[in-house]
Amino acid sequence: MEKRITKKELSAIVNDAYEHCRKIKEGNNASYIPYLAKENSDLFAISLCFVDGDTINVGDYNYIFGMESISKVATALLILKEYGCETILNMIGADATGLPFNSIMAILLENNHPSTPLVNAGAIAAVSMVSPVGNKEQKWKAIYENINALCGGHTELIDELYHSEALSNFNNRSIAWLLKNYNRVYDDPELSLDLYTKQCSLGVTNEQLSTFAATIANGGVNPRNGTRIFESRLSAKIISMMASVGFYEHSGNWLFSSGIPAKSGVSGGVMGVLPGLFGISAFAPPIDNAGNSVRAQAAIKYIMEKSGLNIFDGCSVRIDD
Ligand code: GLU
Repeated sequence: MEKRITKKELSAIVNDAYEHCRKIKEGNNASYIPYLAKENSDLFAISLCFVDGDTINVGDYNYIFGMESISKVATALLILKEYGCETILNMIGADATGLPFNSIMAILLENNHPSTPLVNAGAIAAVSMVSPVGNKEQKWKAIYENINALCGGHTELIDELYHSEALSNFNNRSIAWLLKNYNRVYDDPELSLDLYTKQCSLGVTNEQLSTFAATIANGGVNPRNGTRIFESRLSAKIISMMASVGFYEHSGNWLFSSGIPAKSGVSGGVMGVLPGLFGISAFAPPIDNAGNSVRAQAAIKYIMEKSGLNIFDGCSVRIDD
């Protein structure tokens, strides 16, 4: 079966979603990172970027916020590119943990691998694998340039967020050293933890996140500037990781109710991918008890439902101008 929808119809749905969801007041800003706790809770944006580079933006889409866990997707791609899928499966894994993003229990349960690059343990392991091992400046350069390429523009470290997070990340420090105990961190644990914290503190706009998502939807070519960032076969690999663990212990519920693989971050961003069609992102700081933005989830679910699109329905979709 073929479904057809126009960009104009999608644009109207995105604007409706914005009006409908801006009234939602549930959720609270992440409180365990002081910088995020004091962010304006009313901020709200939705962006969609088609695989031909056209965009739809509404709300605070130019506001700069910390990438947090969405950065995990970028660095997972970087090491998939560098090492290949088999090695990543062996050294980190691609399993859903079914547990919170910062779970220590998950490491104890699966001590032969850190589960997936999209939870904190696997993300710290992923950062540790970025070349050149032992060289902090060059590793950061590789991580930072990869994120800029995926987002199609300049991103900037939010110093205050980085320091706020570095002073309060005791749980992540425990994770880094527990990984060391199991030989599952592949560079110095403190260096890896610091670079992980730094990538989480990179400032992006919601519009940039939709470009990032659209680059994945577009088989690795950034649709805003035509640059190939990664091999097309890696799109399916990273989308499968997002689908299985993108919302931590709520990943199944999310996929069941939204029909789009996506990844969230505790600062309030959510980035979703419909392969071959578009990337979508939404941002609003208040999060639920699993660390996922309440308003951003509601907005993307609204758009998926009203547009009738769903990655699992087997329909081919044509988006007309
Ligand atoms: N920097 C955050 C942490 O490590 C990221 C968590 C998230 O966004 O889910 O706790």
